[in-house]
Amino acid sequence: MNYEKSGANLTDLKVVAFSHFHVDHSADFAALVKASYFAQRNQDLIVLGPEGNDIMPSTTEFINRLFARKGVFAYLSEYVDTEQSGRFKIRGKSVLLTKHIKQVAYTSNRFVLSAIPVHHGPIPALAWRIDVAGCAITFSGDMSNRFQTLASLAKDSELLIAHNAIPETLQGVGRSLHMAPSEIAKIARQADVKKLILSHRMKRTLGREQETLAIIKRRYKGTVLFAEDRDSFFPKK
Ligand SMILES: [Zn+2]
Repeated sequence: MNYEKSGANLTDLKVVAFSHFHVDHSADFAALVKASYFAQRNQDLIVLGPEGNDIMPSTTEFINRLFARKGVFAYLSEYVDTEQSGRFKIRGKSVLLTKHIKQVAYTSNRFVLSAIPVHHGPIPALAWRIDVAGCAITFSGDMSNRFQTLASLAKDSELLIAHNAIPETLQGVGRSLHMAPSEIAKIARQADVKKLILSHRMKRTLGREQETLAIIKRRYKGTVLFAEDRDSFFPKK
């Protein structure tokens, strides 16, 4: 419901690009497929995401385990099974993680989607960039910056949407999986992005916006905004 409340239309959605398959990044996917049915979708849905490893499914496996004939939501198998007729199909593709370089994952006549592997502990993870209408928007996904790949992907983006999942002082597992505010600022500066939007806010970062902002402003001079549900961002005309 929030997707459509934002002003977007599920029938216009071309591609879903997963960063990784942690539950808070993927659990709504089945609902989005069913919502597309209610929105009268009749074009195929491209679904991109990382390949798998021994703890996470690949993107194509993720789709099949949900929707194939023996999947959790087998009653929706018409969206993957080519032998059944349905209004649209889900067309999944797993992006390889072997090289830490930018890969073009999908091209249409209106936009280009590129991905780069990022470090998120043992979880296969990608950051995404979309080049559209003469500008670029880059999404970090969940990541520490151990691979140091995000700044090159985000270079000269209009927007960098980065996950503000931990406060500066957090240590331990959270720190090994995520970027502290100082790291986000360093990447935004290296990439020379015009605007930084902090998303994936969690209980451990909510209420600490001023502290986070102060740390980021010391290193990055562009605009910094904290994302709220249903925010929309449009380039200035
Ligand atoms: Zn995660």
